[in-house]
Amino acid sequence: MNTRVGTIGNASPLVAGADPMIDPFGRAVTYLRVSVTDRCDFRCTYCMAENMTFLPKKDLLTLEELDRLCSAFIAKGVSKIRLTGGEPLVRKNIMYLVRQLGQKIGSGLDELTLTTNGSQLSRHAEELYDCGVRRINVSLDTLDPDKFRKITRWGDFDKVMEGIDAAQKAGLKIKLNAVALKDFNDAEMPELLRFAHGRGMDLTVIETMPMGEIEEDRTDQYLPLSKLRADLEDQFTLADIDYQTGGPARYVRVEETGGRLGFITPMTHNFCESCNRVRLTCTGTLYMCLGQNDAADLRASLRATEDDALLHAAIDEAITRKPKGHDFIIDRTHNRPAVARHMSVTGG
Ligand code: SAM
Ligand code: SF4
Repeated sequence: MNTRVGTIGNASPLVAGADPMIDPFGRAVTYLRVSVTDRCDFRCTYCMAENMTFLPKKDLLTLEELDRLCSAFIAKGVSKIRLTGGEPLVRKNIMYLVRQLGQKIGSGLDELTLTTNGSQLSRHAEELYDCGVRRINVSLDTLDPDKFRKITRWGDFDKVMEGIDAAQKAGLKIKLNAVALKDFNDAEMPELLRFAHGRGMDLTVIETMPMGEIEEDRTDQYLPLSKLRADLEDQFTLADIDYQTGGPARYVRVEETGGRLGFITPMTHNFCESCNRVRLTCTGTLYMCLGQNDAADLRASLRATEDDALLHAAIDEAITRKPKGHDFIIDRTHNRPAVARHMSVTGG
């Protein structure tokens, strides 16, 4: 059922509860992740090379164009949007887009959220809340400032802590994301867990995915979460729970802390069967799967005409190409990652 509640010019109508798009495998596509920039003020070793080449600024869609694209997805049944990157909060004037999208909450959009490294959070936290954002993900792989500098290359741990403080003060609920890295933060996980739960934050651990050329050897970094979970069970009682956030994490409750711990296991488990998402880059390319190269160019349809009909048709066509699942295998013969683009392009 489409319940249209208003139209602005030729732009996508604002809808409440539009029918979701259904992919060829019967999955409803209700979640759009938007990488608003490929740039970042950190250079996390598992994510980027130190001397990354970024897109020329002229290739980026404007914030108005990104707003129009997001509105088209909302009109087509997307109810959750996550802004990510690169670092979303380093894009100039990003709060303009956050405010525009925030106005759509309740008119088709149920949730607007973002994933951030926290570096710029202290100055944006209050405005994010004011725009309707209620929950955010902050990436934090270690509580040791020296190790933090090592893994992010350029990051300042204290700034991120200030950001977390400011976000909580503003009323934003935080989930911490940590990438599990062998011989880097595995021993520290109990501490990270106690820290997160002690501050009322969920913690999700993620396996590294082979995306984009980096300077390190991926196989050196890879830590299966089954091993991490077994290690944690030496100290904690983990009870499987049915909690769902619309993402691929499987959650447990930690009896000793009362908090939730999520596991995202793209490598050891197929997390694709319940995939409800597509990913838009800052140049208007739509990836139907994080772990596949097939994509649709929405920029051409966006710029061809102000009438959204063409854009809607291009989105529909792209959804018919959403694959069943990813194919993350490290190409050991050529020592190449399975997917050539970096996570910062599609936003994780
Ligand atoms: N800059 C923001 C941040 O770090 O939260 C948003 C973008 S970042 C690409 C999104 C998430 O992807 C982060 O939690 C990061 O740790 C994770 N990530 C980056 N590269 C990854 C990789 N190769 N494997 C697994 N996770 C990765
Ligand atoms: Fe930047 Fe996020 Fe990638 Fe780290 S993980 S380099 S913070 S985009």
